[in-house]
Amino acid sequence: MKVGIVGLGLIGGSLGLDLRSQGIEVLGVARRDRTCELARIRNVVDAASTNLNFLSPADIIFICTPLTVIAPTVRQLLPYLNSETILTDVGSVKASIVKSCEGLGVSFVGGHPMAGTEERGVEAARRGLFVGTPYVLTPGKTSPSEAVEQVADIARSLGATVYTCSPTVHDRAVSLISHLPLFASAGLIETCMGEAEPDILTLAQQLASSGFRDTSRVGGGNPELGVEIARHNRTQLLRSLYQYRQTLDRAIAQIEGEDWESLERALSGDRAARPLFLS
Ligand code: NAP
Repeated sequence: MKVGIVGLGLIGGSLGLDLRSQGIEVLGVARRDRTCELARIRNVVDAASTNLNFLSPADIIFICTPLTVIAPTVRQLLPYLNSETILTDVGSVKASIVKSCEGLGVSFVGGHPMAGTEERGVEAARRGLFVGTPYVLTPGKTSPSEAVEQVADIARSLGATVYTCSPTVHDRAVSLISHLPLFASAGLIETCMGEAEPDILTLAQQLASSGFRDTSRVGGGNPELGVEIARHNRTQLLRSLYQYRQTLDRAIAQIEGEDWESLERALSGDRAARPLFLS
């Protein structure tokens, strides 16, 4: 089997490293010559090019570009595909992408590996990124079941656990556990930086430790990805942010009203609920 990857950054590069370690031939396409060169040096691909026609021999192609470029890339690839080629993507938002790629006459299977780091680019690619993580597939009405199964097999070979759901359901669920945390975490960093007293801000920066590291990680990541997520999953993200604002307002009211009992009840509920998301 030959696998093609368009976009050799954190996700595309990590995928290439893992697939090559299984002995699979990986052909890469990147936007810049320098990325192709780095991908070859880092053994992310067997060969790379800046031209999409380079992927015509591939049996399955993973599109790992920023969200905005995914559907245009699928359309640009069309002349170079044969009737058997399977296309899949790794975008963090699914409904808009699946809608744009359905009906193009190709076997397209929407996908989203729930794995990442705060870094970006081919230099950030790492082996084993997907081990023990969920990998969501969001087949559309025109995704052939054999194509879905092939993408699922590859995801499992990376050590991921495969889940299947509709693109819209995916976007609503990930807005809660991935997109909301990004903005909550970014808001935390902004709030700290808003401290007007320079001495207090400096001391806070010196004292920040594991709690701040954990809670600020996703907010301190790739800004382009954050904006793309907000643009492409706007409705669901806003819904989650409004709910979060209500939760913060409730906590503020409890603290202002010195209602320690109900605050403790809420925090006890949070403590009991957390493992349900991290089993
Ligand atoms: P990244 O590290 O910034 O890599 C993006 C890659 O796409 C780079 O190789 C870049 O090429 C290429 N690219 C950028 N603009 C392009 C264009 N106009 N045409 C062709 N290629 C272009 O990003 P990433 O974190 O891997 O994210 C890639 C995808 O994975 C996104 O759709 C994102 O939603 C999804 N995703 C990300 C995460 C995460 O935590 N980061 C998790 C799950 C899914 P150059 O290097 O040449 O600039």
